[in-house]
Amino acid sequence: MRANIAVLPGDGIGPEVTAEAQRVLEAVADRFGHEFTFREGLVGGAAIDATGSALPEETLALCRDCVAVLFGAVGGPRWDDPTAAVRPEQGLLAIRKGLGLYANLRPVTLNPVLADASTIKRETLEGTDLLVVRELTGGIYFGERGRRDGGQTAYDTMVYSVEEVERVVHTAFRLARGRKRHVTSVDKANVLECSRLWRETATRVAKEYPDVAFDHLLVDACAMHLIRRPATFDVIVTENMFGDILTDEASMLTGSMGMLPSASLGAGSMGLYEPIHGSAPDIAGQGIANPLAAILSAALLLRHSLALEQEARAVETAVDGALRAGYRTHDLAGQGEQALGTREMGEMIVRSVAEVS
Ligand code: NAD
Repeated sequence: MRANIAVLPGDGIGPEVTAEAQRVLEAVADRFGHEFTFREGLVGGAAIDATGSALPEETLALCRDCVAVLFGAVGGPRWDDPTAAVRPEQGLLAIRKGLGLYANLRPVTLNPVLADASTIKRETLEGTDLLVVRELTGGIYFGERGRRDGGQTAYDTMVYSVEEVERVVHTAFRLARGRKRHVTSVDKANVLECSRLWRETATRVAKEYPDVAFDHLLVDACAMHLIRRPATFDVIVTENMFGDILTDEASMLTGSMGMLPSASLGAGSMGLYEPIHGSAPDIAGQGIANPLAAILSAALLLRHSLALEQEARAVETAVDGALRAGYRTHDLAGQGEQALGTREMGEMIVRSVAEVS
């Protein structure tokens, strides 16, 4: 297969971890006989410094020319002035909107060898393998907001259309068919009108997937059950703000920021793939960042944008194998344990992919 892949490393550890993810994709291309062309673009603080914009027009055009985007992270103390008119994270929001990426996927799978790194008890976590599908381009983050009464009252507005709910719920059901066939829709239908529309719509969409089990949970109950019985979930689908909060909660089940990938998808095969962590300015430039979240994001790229399931699994198996063999980066290593640098861990995965039989 031939594919053009946009690479947007961004700031801080973004370039360090993205370089390893790209090397793993190159190893996949070599091993499985594909031809991937990587095209690099500017985003975030690096783009602000070079062009004055967090998402230059040519970066968006480059992404539109590609089948997928491998994204690092944006931001850092240099661009942290909250009153600045141009900020790095605008680059990420603009790219999601510009490419119509309305569904954010965050798989949370417990790797048994890392279970003790979590603050939750091992027996509660055992078997956890869930996927949160968060609506990404609607809801309260995009509704009308402002101040009135001379600035003494503030308001934000949550707005959803049937179409916005339908498309993301369909995404959740399609993904559930490739997993444990169970969708849980999360809302606050006892209070919010948007949630009542969400629930009606999700219930209607669910009828098109009689082979998939379906239930509803109120968001407050879901927050509780996620840490009480995480292994009972398969796919959770929810609106933007609830998803923002629940995905961070879910990410902590597995213990480390450096391990978790994400994908943002739209209607076609185009997707944006990025680690959930930020630019980690505290460790940037030291060569010690954990590249596994970025590498696992590359596996999601293979699965969702290129439909290369065998290749995606080869990468995931390589990561799993490295962890089982006891290799750790600094964030995962215990006291006195030896740790690999970013490049060394990347190299470990590259070698393992190259050896897949
Ligand atoms: P962060 O995720 O960058 O870092 C939080 C902590 O986790 C730090 O101690 C960091 O060293 C550690 N960490 C993160 N990723 C790691 C990795 N791969 N390996 C080892 N350790 C890792 O979050 P933050 O400190 O709140 O934010 C730093 C900057 O990143 C801010 O400018 C923020 O706006 C930005 N940010 C960007 C994104 C994004 O680009 N999607 C997401 C979150 C934060």
